Amino acid sequence: HSIGDRLLEKVAERLQHIFGDTAFVSRLGGDEFILLFDQIDQKTVIKLANKVLVKMIEPFELNKHKIIVTTSIGISFATPDDIRNYSSTAEFIETLIQQADIAMYHAKQQGGNRAQFNNPTINAAVKRTFNLENELQHALENEEFFIHYQPIVDLQNKDIVELEALLRWENSKYGYISPDEFIPILEETGLIRKVGKWILKTVSEQINSWHKQDIHLSKVAVNISPIQFNDENFIRDLHEILQETQLNPKYLNFEITENVLYDFNKSLDILYKLHNLHINISIDDFGTGYSSLSYLKFLPIDTIKIDKSFIDNLDEDGKMIVQSIITMGKNLHYTLIAEGIETEKQLEFLKMLGCERGQGYLFSTPLSTDAVTRLLGR
Ligand code: C2E
Ligand code: CA
Ligand code: CA
Ligand code: CA
Repeated sequence: HSIGDRLLEKVAERLQHIFGDTAFVSRLGGDEFILLFDQIDQKTVIKLANKVLVKMIEPFELNKHKIIVTTSIGISFATPDDIRNYSSTAEFIETLIQQADIAMYHAKQQGGNRAQFNNPTINAAVKRTFNLENELQHALENEEFFIHYQPIVDLQNKDIVELEALLRWENSKYGYISPDEFIPILEETGLIRKVGKWILKTVSEQINSWHKQDIHLSKVAVNISPIQFNDENFIRDLHEILQETQLNPKYLNFEITENVLYDFNKSLDILYKLHNLHINISIDDFGTGYSSLSYLKFLPIDTIKIDKSFIDNLDEDGKMIVQSIITMGKNLHYTLIAEGIETEKQLEFLKMLGCERGQGYLFSTPLSTDAVTRLLGR
């Protein structure tokens, strides 16, 4: 009884943490929660539902036990006009909750760890996700994945100093699909563990191959999913790959997001294991999560990647935010990389603030292995 209650408190805390004040979170009783959003579109709901599924998979710690919680999500929608069909606001809200409840029941029936909608147009989106999930099951063995590399440049002279490896998926039925769509599915299904291992191995082999062609880069950055990072086999798998490929790990840079670091002590342990291998750690999409530089400074982190959303939005306030990230970051001796630079104006501003490195379409889009090899071999 008391363990159940404490677990549910932790679930509630985590939900609140995911949404901050963007949603009204309340307990419906039992193990059910309600999240109410004001003004939200269908695409955002799908994204948020995926986010909840991914975050809830991370085990809860209670009395030194790890507890896994399975999440089933039911979603219902209403437009302000719909309210006219009801006799009162109370009846309207009750219907909305009932419909979400039915959808949640279907999600549970299908095995849980998924979201269901009562709305037909959204159900089409869920169907697509379901189909893509099926295709992804065989994507690795069918060799449908490949990797593109995007240059990271020195802003002063535009020299390429590093590359970021980015996963690509081309499927025979659905064609080319964006990572923003398929990575969440890989995470939700846990397939990211196997795929992440494949990415690491492929990139390691590629670095070796570049070395044989006398192409030398300081580092290649690889995105590490939270699920991969917190997987108990992560470090063992890494050692296995390093053993197999004989790559010196100092050529690797791992990009993680702030939200990965929710368990400070555990993160510290993993980060030091990587640090001791001379693998660089970058905080990706910096500024979009919940942590601050004052929290990160206790961790062995080398690089801060300032999220594209800040670079996109350089009005008066935006400039102040970017300026303070750069000033603080420099004082704390981080290497700073600005993401998503598209214009000369953005470049000039970042250079003026002393940001050292950048990445974006202004310099280069992500390139195929062949294209990037030609570029580096010049
Ligand atoms: P990210 O790690 O923040 O990667 C940067 C994304 O921004 C890439 O999108 C890149 O193509 C895009 N980008 C770079 N410069 C510009 C620019 O100037 N303008 C615009 N509009 N976009 C730019 P991509 O490749 O579609 O990847 C999206 C996200 O998917 C990545 O965001 C990352 O979170 C995830 N992802 C991609 N590859 C991998 C991977 O191998 N493993 C994992 N775990 N996640 C990956
Ligand atoms: Ca990244
Ligand atoms: Ca990023
Ligand atoms: Ca991103």
